[in-house]
Amino acid sequence: MKWMITRGGRVIANVRRLKQWPTKAMNAYDRLRPTTAIESCNCDRLSELVLVDLLTDNPIHCASCRREVDPERIGLTEREAEAVADWHGVVSSLFRLWLDSGEYEDDAKRWLTDPQGQVNQRGREIAIFLSIHHPTRLWYFHDADDPEPVECPVCGDALDTDVNWGVGICRPCHVHI
Ligand SMILES: [Zn+2]
Ligand SMILES: [Zn+2]
Repeated sequence: MKWMITRGGRVIANVRRLKQWPTKAMNAYDRLRPTTAIESCNCDRLSELVLVDLLTDNPIHCASCRREVDPERIGLTEREAEAVADWHGVVSSLFRLWLDSGEYEDDAKRWLTDPQGQVNQRGREIAIFLSIHHPTRLWYFHDADDPEPVECPVCGDALDTDVNWGVGICRPCHVHI
């Protein structure tokens, strides 16, 4: 199944919900916790993870069902959870700037799509350290208006298209697009 984040009604609704966050003191795990149980992965066995901003609090998602995975379930230390939350704050800010269109759109897209850019470099570093717990890949931003990618944006090799969602993955580069 092909899956893309679009600028549809669902996104707007989620952005509204995010404005209520955060209002209470939080520990590092809470920063990544799903706000509703319905968004949590319930797979019996967790295989691979994808780091992706789906406009929720937690970018750690199950590669199989695409739902959020609680940071304690995969044994993240508080420090690791903090690093994920910090990176996620940046990537979701850029994503929201892109969604907002207008004068932000082009710069935000450039930052989000540059494989050597700071947000993607850091995202891949985090995917690599999360892979100590479960093999993890970083979701690379792709504008659905652009041609569908066939190559890994990092190494240029053909993508492995055997995926449940998205276009493909490159395991050596920890990339999912
Ligand atoms: Zn799952
Ligand atoms: Zn690659």
